[in-house]
Amino acid sequence: MYNFGKPGVEDFGHTHKKIIPASKKLIKKTNLGPSLKKLDPNLDVKGFDLPRDDIKEIKAKGNKKIRIGNDTVDDDIKYFKRYILPQINKAFTEKELKEMELYIEYPSKRLNRSKKFAGESAAWLSSKNKKISIIDLAHRKDAPTAVHEIIHALRFTKGTTLIKNVHADEAETELEVMARLSPQERAKITCNDGYYKFLKGNKCKARKEDVKIIDDNCNLKNKAGLTACIRKNLKKTNIGKVKIPKKYHLKK
Ligand SMILES: [Zn+2]
Repeated sequence: MYNFGKPGVEDFGHTHKKIIPASKKLIKKTNLGPSLKKLDPNLDVKGFDLPRDDIKEIKAKGNKKIRIGNDTVDDDIKYFKRYILPQINKAFTEKELKEMELYIEYPSKRLNRSKKFAGESAAWLSSKNKKISIIDLAHRKDAPTAVHEIIHALRFTKGTTLIKNVHADEAETELEVMARLSPQERAKITCNDGYYKFLKGNKCKARKEDVKIIDDNCNLKNKAGLTACIRKNLKKTNIGKVKIPKKYHLKK
């Protein structure tokens, strides 16, 4: 549990000890299932050694503080405010934002170097059992990915992550992203992004059908009820029926 970049995380806690209840052994990685085993062992260290001066606080809806960091955060923050923040404010309720403790590395040098993912969310637990999510975003204007990673953070906060079925968890998350975004923002998602790449046939069409299924069966305005409603209707969707190729199956 402590093999995930412990020094950096302790630094993170130190930096934020006024905000996050601190203790000597501050944070450990939560055991949130096999997907986390794939994360870089230096997750919180490489590229953004903490503490550092360039962590800025921005205020989301309801005066919610979200911390953003990067070596060039002074330049980047205006992009966050322009492209990401309005979509976060639209996608989540005040209550949901309030419940989450977020640090966002933006844009993440580590992700841009590895070129594997546009975003990543890591779940952490302070020794006082406060849940903290550290999110990496590769691109400055990529609001859909920001919403995706924050949905992971919200599910972690609320204990609704499907720990034993990472693939279903990812499919549900993807559906919830589309359900929460406005049609204009939703249209910016590349059709074969995420698990939709595993689908055969027209992926844009599959996405449209899935949005309709969720819209027909769930009340999109009732954000608090979305996760449960999507879970109930998952098997009706294209993404819920997707077969994950064997090479992506995770070892138990
Ligand atoms: Zn995801």
